[in-house]
Amino acid sequence: MPWPSTTSRDTETFGYIDEERGRQITGLQLIASENFTSPDVMAATGSVLTNKYAEGYPSKRYYGGNAVVDKIEALAIERVKKLFGADHANVQPHSGASANMAVYLGLLNPGDTVLGLSLDHGGHLTHGSPVNASGILYNFKSFRVGDTDERLDFGQIREMALEHRPKMIVAGTTSYPRRLEPEPFKAIADEVGALMMFDIAHIAGLVAGGAHPNPVPFADVVTFTTHKTLRGPRGGCILSSAAHAAAIDKAVFPGSQGGPLEHAVAAKAVAFHEAMQPSFKVYAQQIITNASALAEALAHQGFRLVSGGTDTHMMVVDLRPFDSELTGKEAQLVLDQAGITLNKNNIPNDPRSPFVTSGVRIGVPSVTTQGMTQTEMPLIAEYIATTLRGRNDPAIVAEVRAKVAALCAKFPVYPTVKK
Ligand SMILES: *Cc1c(COP(=O)(O)O)cnc(C)c1O
Repeated sequence: MPWPSTTSRDTETFGYIDEERGRQITGLQLIASENFTSPDVMAATGSVLTNKYAEGYPSKRYYGGNAVVDKIEALAIERVKKLFGADHANVQPHSGASANMAVYLGLLNPGDTVLGLSLDHGGHLTHGSPVNASGILYNFKSFRVGDTDERLDFGQIREMALEHRPKMIVAGTTSYPRRLEPEPFKAIADEVGALMMFDIAHIAGLVAGGAHPNPVPFADVVTFTTHKTLRGPRGGCILSSAAHAAAIDKAVFPGSQGGPLEHAVAAKAVAFHEAMQPSFKVYAQQIITNASALAEALAHQGFRLVSGGTDTHMMVVDLRPFDSELTGKEAQLVLDQAGITLNKNNIPNDPRSPFVTSGVRIGVPSVTTQGMTQTEMPLIAEYIATTLRGRNDPAIVAEVRAKVAALCAKFPVYPTVKK
């Protein structure tokens, strides 16, 4: 029986996919957690592997027919272990959130105390937010960034660790522009006998490309997403020391997932291969160069950079010195109309709610993938500032929209992918 799509294609859905491709390639994609993945990664994601059930692990599967899938998953595991210098890898987590929940399930008991960075100071939902399973099932205590320098305060983290005696410390950030140094975290974890987990979801590509310190030698467990700076398919991954390998694998399957998405696992293998190429180091370095250039240009336009700047792929921008009336919510909306996509974001100690905010978060992984350099960053800052200054004048917004489209046309993302 042929599929209905051979005679009546779902033009509605595919029409929307074409529309979304148009949106992605004609605008500036500045969401710090996004990237443009390669045509090869997309080919693996859209492959026949989506048909296969493979519950279990290579050579320990519940179903037959997994000889080829075993080779693919083993390849992904070998590559990622080599890329990060890890003893053990689990490449099956469906997402970063699933990876984190599997680690907690494998290494903690419900109710155990854990230390993590507060969501409104740059942490992630899965680091103990009360609306997330992490915060519901475990006793998370949140540390915050320092009031004056807006950076991690290891004095405070150590004091909290001594007071609460956590079973685990979670280091990792989702909107924090500075380096995550592994040594001071590790020293505190050792002092109180806590497990050390690093969530490098955002910075995995920078770590792989040698542009950010690698926490793997210091951590019991490292989790990350494969779709942010690492530029692979949507998905998660867990690296661990040999001592935790069995507990981690059991917590992913059967603990918290069923059949793995082997098409995503194959795409992860492709992304790891790409990240092992010398050109990926150049990419990671260019991300850092672009982010500092953009931060500097934004400061020049009158914005305040949280913590004074960035050493990563992202920055958090305080809009108040630019315009005290302007909220992150309004900025996101009007910039979207100008073809500039980013997200509103709380700044540390933000007087406005998370739905309104006084800031935006900006990242450069996508524009760096499409070939933009420090030459284009001042232009991007200018387009952002012009749009926000002229936000009540549709003609100004439309003018910027046209300039953005012209700039993006000079840096085509997917020249070889057919519609
Ligand atoms: C993005 C992110 C995650 C979650 O990843 P998903 O794939 O969206 O579930 C987890 N931790 C951190 C620090 C992140 O930035």
